[in-house]
Amino acid sequence: MSALKSALLRQIRAQGPISIAEYMTQCLLHPAHGVYASRDPLGAEGDFTTAPEISQMFGEMLGLLLAQVWHDQGAPAPFTLAELGPGRGTLMADALRATARVPGFHAGARLHLVEASGPLRAAQAARLGDFSPTWHDTAETLPDGPLFLIANEFFDALPIRQFLRRGAGWAERMVGARGDDLVAGLSPPAPLAALAHRLDDTAEGQMVETCAPARPIMAAIAARIAAHGGFALIVDYGDWRSRGDTLQALRAHAPIDPFATPGEADLTAHVDFEALAEAAAPLRATKLTPQGVLLERLGITARAEALAHNLGGDALNDHIAAHRRLTHPDEMGHLFQTLGLYPPVAPPPPGFDA
Ligand code: SAH
Repeated sequence: MSALKSALLRQIRAQGPISIAEYMTQCLLHPAHGVYASRDPLGAEGDFTTAPEISQMFGEMLGLLLAQVWHDQGAPAPFTLAELGPGRGTLMADALRATARVPGFHAGARLHLVEASGPLRAAQAARLGDFSPTWHDTAETLPDGPLFLIANEFFDALPIRQFLRRGAGWAERMVGARGDDLVAGLSPPAPLAALAHRLDDTAEGQMVETCAPARPIMAAIAARIAAHGGFALIVDYGDWRSRGDTLQALRAHAPIDPFATPGEADLTAHVDFEALAEAAAPLRATKLTPQGVLLERLGITARAEALAHNLGGDALNDHIAAHRRLTHPDEMGHLFQTLGLYPPVAPPPPGFDA
């Protein structure tokens, strides 16, 4: 049995069941055994892969989008160029390469990275060292000033709580112990003010999820953008409103019972974009736009064709497959959604559904 599993069993036996949020936090961020804290879980040898690791085109398109919005807002300088959960730094490296010739963009950019993982900070330093990044534990310490920010697969890694509708109240899903196994159970139902609005659109026995840590992060970002200008681009899997149990574990790229191997599988949950947009008041939110649609509108197919000219054989086939994987509705194109947040006084960002 893994060290984290025995530690969790000991804790639960002594103090009672823990919330899904507490369980996720331990699995992902436990200093010695957590998925992110202890290693780099990305890529072919890891547990999961992400859009920037699939193709350089992802970071290029989104980097050019940020530069366009920056330009449309009058090219403020200096400005904060920030990323939440930059992984290996691949997205930002591709974004910076693509924007190298945008007049004034690099000269004005001050790179700030919000990252909890030591091993991933080291990977980011290796990729992005030329831009002298400043690292943060939380978005709340980002500098004041114009803020252009991107977050890909960041919010899905934040801890959620799960609640099952029971009459006019909610029973929370908890992690308990049975013998040597971690098992899910339910707390006694109780009313919950934060979920009052969900009594209207849920029926008995349905589950909703909440992500408390997302709120202060969005509020900190929105305060800077509202005061000084800027733009936040959020890409993740999820929907406008949380519906049902979306807790998912991936180990070596295969789905696995989330409670079977704590610390050895990546845990994620779908993002509730409505909650993010609400926490970002007074910013305006674009319509939720499928990743594939946004990338097409930003010109990914023309870019794919240009890159294809220099490729042949397996490399060309891989490139075509990567384009399909990022954009096709049957692959990541529809599962992943994008949301743009911008000041009410600024023009709407290009590429999103109106
Ligand atoms: N954006 C990258 C990585 C996604 S994985 C990509 O698309 O490839 C999630 C990222 O968020 C990792 O970098 C992870 O270490 C970071 N992360 C997860 N939880 C975090 C937290 N609570 N605070 C800061 N960073 C966190």
